[in-house]
Order: sequence, then C-alpha cells, then structure tokens
Amino acid sequence: MISTDLFYYPNRMGRIILLSMEEVMGHNGVNAILKLGALPSLIDNYPPDNSERNFSFSTVRNLSEMLEHAYGPHGGRGLALRIGRACFNYGVRQYGTQLGLTEMAFRLLPLPAKLSAGATAFAELFNNFTDQRVRVEREDGKLLWHIERCPLCWERKAADPVCHLAVGLLQEALYWLSGGKVFNVEEKTCIAAGDETCTIVIDQSPIL
Ligand SMILES: [Zn+2]
Repeated sequence: MISTDLFYYPNRMGRIILLSMEEVMGHNGVNAILKLGALPSLIDNYPPDNSERNFSFSTVRNLSEMLEHAYGPHGGRGLALRIGRACFNYGVRQYGTQLGLTEMAFRLLPLPAKLSAGATAFAELFNNFTDQRVRVEREDGKLLWHIERCPLCWERKAADPVCHLAVGLLQEALYWLSGGKVFNVEEKTCIAAGDETCTIVIDQSPIL
C-alpha cells in the first residue's frame, strides 16, 4: 500500500486514543466513528501496545473530525474533551515513569514549579516519542502550549480551533499534577484556522 503520510504517533498512543474513545462512547460508538471515517481495518483491531510509529496523523485527524460529523460541533467537542481526559489517565499509566512525574522529588515541588516542570516533561514526551512538535512558553502566570505540528487538525481547515482532545488531555494532566485542582485551559489559535501554531493557554492559578 502506498502511503503519503509522513508523520506518526506510536502505536501505543493510537491504542490509547481508541481505548479512551471506547471508555467515553462505548464499543459501538467507536465502531460507528471508525466506519464513518473509512477506517474499518481498526474495528476490533486496535494497534498493538508498542512504540513503533505507525499511527498516522491523518488517522488521528480523521477520528477527531468524525466526532464532529457524527455529533455536531458542540457534541463532538464535549466528547473530544472527555476522550482527552481519558487519554491522560491511560497515558500516565504507560508513560508516568518515563516522565519522572511519579518521583517523590517532583511530587514535593510547589504548585507553580510543578506545573511548569510537568509541562516541559510532557512536551518532551511528545517531541521524543512522536512526530508531534510542542514548545512550552511561559508568560505572566500562564503556560503557552504551542503545538507546532499537530495531528488533531492535520491538513484540516476550520473557522475555529478544533483540537479539543488536546485541551481535555491538558486539563486532566493539570488536575492530576495539582492533586485535584481545576484550571482554565483554552485553545486560542489553531493551524486549521490559519494560525501558525495550535496554542493552548493554561492559566497557572487554579479556578477557585
Ligand atoms: Zn491542531
């Protein structure tokens, strides 16, 4: 099969996305999305749990776009946020040790330092294990999570930001890092909307 795909997630992350979708929408819900996205080869046949980069950005994009097609922009967004949160919880089990986020020294950091170090470690995970590119910037009480090469909106055009799964993922990461606090997390720019990066702005002070 000839493929024009250049960029990939590891199989493990593709598997995590599909398992998270299943947790949120059930087995039949996922199958419906896979049919709609013309991805029948994934039905009851999720990628193996390994680090081979074989889950293409176009597949990731397809899954996130089909959520909107099936449930409308609003319903699709809600589901994508929940799927993103589930992805973090699967991911932290798989990658937590590699990230160093479960070590005592890290756990004892004060909250702002912990969020900042967590964001850097998390960005490195994407940069080292996937073809996604993330750069973290710090700006008066905010963390800017710049996705410079983004699978969620890969080759998409949209009027508004569409990378809701990443927002859910970061919301849950912050919840976990802070021991149960909720933060304002918003995607302000999106490559699909013509911006240079998909930038998610994280308020470093929790919502009271
Ligand atoms: Zn994006």
